[in-house]
Amino acid sequence: MASNKTLICNKCKCGLAEIDTQFTYLDKKFRHKVLRCPQCGQVFIPEDLAKGKMAQLEKSLEEK
Ligand SMILES: [Zn+2]
Repeated sequence: MASNKTLICNKCKCGLAEIDTQFTYLDKKFRHKVLRCPQCGQVFIPEDLAKGKMAQLEKSLEEK
């Protein structure tokens, strides 16, 4: 059993690397480690990150 679940890029068939990436969402910037294809640069954002982080940001904006 592999300890790390390695995702493979659909296009390049190569393993994705975890890279610290900066996102911009609703004019806010934040950094998070995401899996990215070293060849084509395609970033794979896990659903929980997309939902969790975005929801957090939306919440903090509402509270302003
Ligand atoms: Zn790729």
